[in-house]
Amino acid sequence: MESNGNSNPSTSPEPQSTTPTTELATGESAASAASAPTNGTLPENSELWQSTLGWQPSQAEQAMLQRLYQGILEGNRKLNLTRLTEPTEFWEKHLWDSLRALRPWLQGQLSLGKQEQTPKIIDIGTGGGFPGIPAAIVFPQAQVTLLDSTRKKMVFLQQLVAEMKLSNVRTVTDRAEASGQKEGHRDKYDLALIRAVGPTTVCAEYCLPMVRYGGMAVLYRGQWSVEEAEDLKETALLLGAEVVDVDAFETPLSQGTRHCIYLKKIAGTPDMFPRAVGVPVQSPLP
Ligand code: SAM
Repeated sequence: MESNGNSNPSTSPEPQSTTPTTELATGESAASAASAPTNGTLPENSELWQSTLGWQPSQAEQAMLQRLYQGILEGNRKLNLTRLTEPTEFWEKHLWDSLRALRPWLQGQLSLGKQEQTPKIIDIGTGGGFPGIPAAIVFPQAQVTLLDSTRKKMVFLQQLVAEMKLSNVRTVTDRAEASGQKEGHRDKYDLALIRAVGPTTVCAEYCLPMVRYGGMAVLYRGQWSVEEAEDLKETALLLGAEVVDVDAFETPLSQGTRHCIYLKKIAGTPDMFPRAVGVPVQSPLP
């Protein structure tokens, strides 16, 4: 888990997750298979994109991903955004990992949003902008909201997306529990993404109130257990959703274990969810 800059859980503005992040699997080593430039240039890895996602970034998208990488490296001088600064690790564990979960939309198997409406995506607990900024780069037709409770990160991301001329991105500084009860966010999003923010059922409680009927939430996970699956199934029903897919795979260079959990909103989320700030972590569902 990356630090959020506050080492005292009792005073932290946001809960300290005990769940492994998707980026830290012990023993993962930087990749050997792909080209690994060390001069601050991201590898293109076109064939890897193609073989794993059936998609690859255009030249313009590659340039934006490179610009994102440079921006994060610059921001890292002042803020603790990521410890993954080596180009190949950044490519695999931030860029590839962010976009792998979006494969059904990149391949056109699922459509983003309702016909003739701007698709709306939210990244909850975006931190240094993952997976939300890569999503905004590859889905320029979507409006992407980056939500995080840490103000300094959001100030930085606001400047970064402005410099990158990513006009389809907005930033919101707030707790997920608070936003989920606000009219501007509740039932508003076609797609909610959440990576490395907390235990599975907590993430579901953060996401699902903001997803519209028929929309989807994607939970990015590392390991996945039978117990988690059972708890999530029960929690999803409480929140008006069902688990429609659990996609298990490995990262392509260091073979880290990943699971993407796809939830579909099939009913309204009861008004009592999300519960008050801090309660989802203190008393996780179900
Ligand atoms: N999603 C990013 C990634 O995968 O690289 C960042 C993950 S970082 C470990 C967790 C982030 O979630 C932190 O920036 C923290 O401020 C944010 N966070 C945790 N709980 C939150 C909450 N209840 N509402 C909003 N943001 C929250």
